[in-house]
Amino acid sequence: MTKAERQLIFDKYNGRCAYCGCMLTRGWHVDHLKPIRRKQYKKGECRYPQRDCMENFMPACASCNINKHAMKLEDFRQLVAGFMKHLNERNTQYKIAKRYGLVVEQEQPVVFYFERMIS
Ligand SMILES: [Zn+2]
Repeated sequence: MTKAERQLIFDKYNGRCAYCGCMLTRGWHVDHLKPIRRKQYKKGECRYPQRDCMENFMPACASCNINKHAMKLEDFRQLVAGFMKHLNERNTQYKIAKRYGLVVEQEQPVVFYFERMIS
């Protein structure tokens, strides 16, 4: 990928992560919206090479890209939607912070930044 192509991807959502909307910082990732599924293939090969194109590239922060991994968008949405349940079940510090009013939960659908930009 050329520096100019990477800049085009960065500019797609004005320097923000396509998923969470945070400002991208040094080391931001290029995600494939529709996964190319590289894992079981040899280096440089993937299951869906036709998806390795500008239309499918999304600027992403490292944590969104690492958590999304090779997931389809709806699977990633389900994963993010489950984070609050997971925190309530397993994270004592989160539960305490909630009791002190430092964290306020909201029941709402997971809408990705790029989806908000479209509508
Ligand atoms: Zn992000």
